[in-house]
Amino acid sequence: MSSVTPDPGALATATAPAIRLRGLRKTFGDVVAVDSVDLDIADGEFLTLLGPSGSGKTTVLRMIAGFELPTAGVIELAGTDVSQLPPFQRDVNTVFQDYALFPHLSVQDNVEYGLKVKKVGKEERRRRADEALAAVRLDTYGNRKPSEMSGGQRQRVALARALVNRPKVLLLDEPLGALDLKLREQMQVELKAIQRDVGITFVFVTHDQEEALTMSDRIAVFNAGSIEQVGTAADVYEHPATEFVAGFVGTSNLLRGDAALTVLGLQGVFSVRPEKIRIVPVGETAGEGEHSASGTVAEVVYVGDATRFVVDLDAGGSLVALQQNTHSTSSDVAKLRGSRVLLVWRREHEYRVEG
Ligand code: ADP
Ligand code: MG
Repeated sequence: MSSVTPDPGALATATAPAIRLRGLRKTFGDVVAVDSVDLDIADGEFLTLLGPSGSGKTTVLRMIAGFELPTAGVIELAGTDVSQLPPFQRDVNTVFQDYALFPHLSVQDNVEYGLKVKKVGKEERRRRADEALAAVRLDTYGNRKPSEMSGGQRQRVALARALVNRPKVLLLDEPLGALDLKLREQMQVELKAIQRDVGITFVFVTHDQEEALTMSDRIAVFNAGSIEQVGTAADVYEHPATEFVAGFVGTSNLLRGDAALTVLGLQGVFSVRPEKIRIVPVGETAGEGEHSASGTVAEVVYVGDATRFVVDLDAGGSLVALQQNTHSTSSDVAKLRGSRVLLVWRREHEYRVEG
């Protein structure tokens, strides 16, 4: 398979990160959209900005692209300060959710369009468009019209249209948001594979934590304009740094206050992931290196391959425990509602989080 490679002239500054954000801030009137964001994104990295709606993800992306100027702070691309440069002087391209393709043009002409505007010659236009279409696995679709393609294929044409410019950095703002779940999951895997092939730095925005966990080399978790935590999927999932991250990435499962004191003998807020918790009959005891809490099963939610048990703890509060349905059916697990149980987990699976 052919690939779209970044401009080799950029190798001179290869030691600097692809993107460096320092003290980045943006206000709109009284609204602080982005506040003191520091982030380094490595060359060739797939980095996701993850956070709820309104947390400042799009504004960060638009500042990297140059569509918004920062109120304060610095944006460097490959070691060069671009904070005040217009979009066309930055080596980045953006793919949006509403990938407006020209309906009257063929796929090939859609992909070539930007190059034509830049007065790139016909032969080279064709060659680079072929290359970009191959990278998104649409090599045989050049003659089709957008209306003759599926949503996922149209999204890949939009991606090819960005790749054809051979940007050092590709910015993607919720590009899969318009697709239905099955297609979105398929495209997540495809997009990650394409990124690996072309080796371009991707900054990907989503509010969907599963999407972020599936695709990213690293995730920056946003809350109210600031980054709460940056790390690999495993880092942010298994070691959430704050209560917000524990709740936003995965199921919030916290022990706090009196419950933390009674169950763990510790003061503070602690996170235990649901799949790390075992449910055993009362009367059994926790083993070496384990903690346990007794309680009553308040809710049983059968989700096919697994069951979620919400257990009200005698010590106060509640915890969710996720159990695989390897040996049980939906009627087996339904019977457990209202019963007394003991929850057991290994101590290394409980993490102190910032309250
Ligand atoms: P996200 O992409 O995470 O949903 P945004 O970056 O779009 O968040 O928005 C962050 C905050 O900035 C929100 O409160 C939003 O209303 C505000 N905001 C974004 N763009 C503008 C604008 N052009 N004018 C005024 N407020 C804006
Ligand atoms: Mg947004």
